Amino acid sequence: MHNRDAVFLEDLCPKLSDRRWRKSLHEFTGNRCIYCGKNSESIDHVLPQSKGGLSITENCVPACLSCNGSKTDNNAFEWYRKQRFYDPRRSMAIRAWTEGDIRLAMRLLQWAEPKLNENIDKSRSILNEDYSWKLA
Ligand SMILES: [Zn+2]
Repeated sequence: MHNRDAVFLEDLCPKLSDRRWRKSLHEFTGNRCIYCGKNSESIDHVLPQSKGGLSITENCVPACLSCNGSKTDNNAFEWYRKQRFYDPRRSMAIRAWTEGDIRLAMRLLQWAEPKLNENIDKSRSILNEDYSWKLA
């Protein structure tokens, strides 16, 4: 069973370290979807592979299956802006991530996370309260 899985993964992924790399991506976000904050079950290409997006850290973000499936080949930022769970802090985090600043992305995600978990639908109204003291 394990051997079969390993072969399957290596067939899919050119790099032997791919599995470890994917794990580290999920760890950056605390195993949360970078878009909505649910459990990350997959890796999403910000720029889709079909449009030349590479499988590198800057282009690969942890995402839940729902977001990954909904986004498909759309531009990640345009797609994300239309979602009910849109959060500008997460959008900034994704932008930082794609620019290679994972540390900044993580800080933005941590900032977005607590309230988002409580109630994703209220995230928009909560934003105004939080900006001032967290940015200091
Ligand atoms: Zn998601």
